[in-house]
Amino acid sequence: MNDQHNYDTNGIDDDGERDGETETETEKDLYGILDKRNIEKVVLGDHEFDTWYGNAVYFLKNEPQELAFKFMNKDVRSRNNLKKFLEFDSSHKYWLSKLYVCDSCFKYTDDELDCLKHRSMCKYKIKLPGRTVYKDDSKKISIRKVKGKRHKLFCQNLCLFAKMFLNNKSVFFSLDHYDFYMMYGDCNETNKISTNDTQKSNYLIPKGFFSRELLSWDNNNLACILIFPPFQRQKLGQLLISFSYELSRFESLISGPEHPLSEFGEIGYLNYWSKYLAREFLEGSLANSTEQDIKLKENDNINDITQVITLEEISIKTGFRIDDILMALEYMGCLAEKKNRNIYKDYELKNQNDIQNNEKLSSLSSDSYDVVLLKGKIQEWASTRDISRSIIKENLLLY
Ligand SMILES: [Zn+2]
Repeated sequence: MNDQHNYDTNGIDDDGERDGETETETEKDLYGILDKRNIEKVVLGDHEFDTWYGNAVYFLKNEPQELAFKFMNKDVRSRNNLKKFLEFDSSHKYWLSKLYVCDSCFKYTDDELDCLKHRSMCKYKIKLPGRTVYKDDSKKISIRKVKGKRHKLFCQNLCLFAKMFLNNKSVFFSLDHYDFYMMYGDCNETNKISTNDTQKSNYLIPKGFFSRELLSWDNNNLACILIFPPFQRQKLGQLLISFSYELSRFESLISGPEHPLSEFGEIGYLNYWSKYLAREFLEGSLANSTEQDIKLKENDNINDITQVITLEEISIKTGFRIDDILMALEYMGCLAEKKNRNIYKDYELKNQNDIQNNEKLSSLSSDSYDVVLLKGKIQEWASTRDISRSIIKENLLLY
């Protein structure tokens, strides 16, 4: 198993500068971004599954025939041969068919026996990294805070692993500036792909994580989030997102995830924000006694008999950012533009990527149209989903 930070061995400086290459090329190299999947399958402990994205960081630059740490162990100088690389790349669908990863520490190898040997004595199997910050015995789930500074190799290997399932950059560098919140659960699952139960004792395995920048200028409460593929569709992503907001509410921060979100992240967040908002509007702190639609305004500097709520108020009550609230309300289909008392027009938020905050807000406060929150639509949206309770149990928070 590797014991080195393999990207330290491929000549990449921390600041990402490399002579003679464009910034985009350098950035792609730095984060190991590839246009195709280069590793076919991953075996994480007893679970085997397909990768989603390519990850070149496991390899030396232009040396796809072997994992970087193996190459280095042979004491062969990297040739960094582009021609050879292109030939290899075009004749092989994948650079590697299976990567074996320890389900306690994320060290990796292409050798199944090496992995089995390592797993039987991995120190993280006996002593989990970090400290417990959330524990739900009924669900057999706990969250541990692991400092990047203290458990550098663990967090580096975790990031390398996560890169195969995230289409945006994950953190490989400056780990000192991040905390990682690891979700642990029972390893005795029913959906295992291969089993060797006879040899295995019951121990806790990581099922997902999120990273959080210690000093985020934008007050982001989350940088990257991933539930590992075998453990998805168990609402574990919702639990982690919910926990990340509990942390920022505890610090009285209006906060949210770092954008752009990964594909996985976007689905999870829209689901979380929408359910939370629906609950607040229908029965929580934003609920009103009438069935009236609610006029949404940037500020409350208006005289109107219609019930009015400002985006800022929603933001303060939920701890969500205004942009994120708008994205969720649009996703729920409960926004409409109202020109006068009788005419409603579908509210259309322009492309999230090319619209600035102030443009969005000015469209909300324009004189000719009011943006209205259709309460009936919120009820309709909520009727087909379980919004009855928050997924995180506050009494189980341990920070
Ligand atoms: Zn291990």
